[in-house]
Amino acid sequence: MKIKSLVVLLSLSLLIACSNKEPQKSEKNHQDHEQSQSHETSDIREETGKVESLPSFLMKQPKEIQVIYQAAAKHKELLEKIPCYCGCGVEANHKNNYDCFVHENKKNGAIVWDDHGTKCGVCLEIAAQSVRDYSKGKSIKEIRENINKTYEKGYAKPTPTPTI
Ligand SMILES: [Zn+2]
Repeated sequence: MKIKSLVVLLSLSLLIACSNKEPQKSEKNHQDHEQSQSHETSDIREETGKVESLPSFLMKQPKEIQVIYQAAAKHKELLEKIPCYCGCGVEANHKNNYDCFVHENKKNGAIVWDDHGTKCGVCLEIAAQSVRDYSKGKSIKEIRENINKTYEKGYAKPTPTPTI
């Protein structure tokens, strides 16, 4: 990841609002409606063989979003310690900012992507800023404090990310 491209990304105003307002259905309910049209507000999950292979749902997204997804997936250790302030802790049961991009890392190296981040400017900005600061050599603790300071007022409750 080039630091420069992240700086450029950050300076772009990401006007995408979280569009995932509809309450999440429970898993059981969900199965009953698997074929229904009500999937529009649900987060899409897609598995690829490795971190370098981006999911097909990203192909119709702007390059900036693809770059952030790639960076997020490659910074698991960092983003798992960074809370997300978009409201996904309540809406999607996310535990940290990494969850907005990756649902699961399988033992064989496969990765299950989550399209939540494509619909959420806050998720994208938090990931981009964290990775950028990390590339500059800031500690995870320092990065997290900066994110908290930026988002603690006027945003949703943070995800329940354990303190460092
Ligand atoms: Zn989020």
